[in-house]
Amino acid sequence: MIEAVIFDWGGTLTPWVTMDHLAGWRAYADVLHPGDAPAAERAAAALLAAEEARWQLARDTHRAFRMTQVVEDAAAELRAAGHPEPPYRQDALAAYREHWTAATYTDPEVGPLLGVLRDRGAALGVLSSTGWPADWHEDFLRRDGVLDLFDACVWSSDLDWTKPHREAFEAAIAAVGATDPSRVVYVGDRPYDDISGAKAVGMRAVLVPHSDIPAHQRVPVDVSPDAVIQRLSDLPAVLADW
Ligand SMILES: [Mg+2]
Repeated sequence: MIEAVIFDWGGTLTPWVTMDHLAGWRAYADVLHPGDAPAAERAAAALLAAEEARWQLARDTHRAFRMTQVVEDAAAELRAAGHPEPPYRQDALAAYREHWTAATYTDPEVGPLLGVLRDRGAALGVLSSTGWPADWHEDFLRRDGVLDLFDACVWSSDLDWTKPHREAFEAAIAAVGATDPSRVVYVGDRPYDDISGAKAVGMRAVLVPHSDIPAHQRVPVDVSPDAVIQRLSDLPAVLADW
């Protein structure tokens, strides 16, 4: 009997969309430097480099980070080079977030799937590695009518660690009120972050293998999921046998 099902967000609850990260930061920088394309270009490049460095640190050490830190890191780089620093500004963040909206839409299968799992008595949760604030993610889930179907959502921007660190998974298990990891299922799109992390704490792990994850983000890992599903609506049949 499965006690809880916890889902990854990007590429799992939201189908993968390949995005232009530099364009997102350029949208941020254009708000800071209206009419000054060289300054906007310089700030956007520094912000992208800072974000990539934070993600690399997360891959190497599982250290969590927040958007505020990306902006602070970029500011330090620009300051050292004698350039104006990008402040953490809500209007610039809004432009950045608008750029990313295309990648935030919930798979239409999620609502019906969560209803089926709920009817079976499973607690439901989200665990995501993200630098974005929790309220952004929760706004997206609310917009798509599924936020209230989850018992708990855990975003690494509120934690010290990202996936696959065991503390991230343990935080999510506790948040949904589950007690036995072997009766908790994690569903995700990344073998290293999702599958190896979940299995390391004794959870069962289901891979949804359709994300076009860039090569530099892939971490080689020798791990096998307990199941592979082609679409989220295939999950109840898999869990029925567990
Ligand atoms: Mg993912």
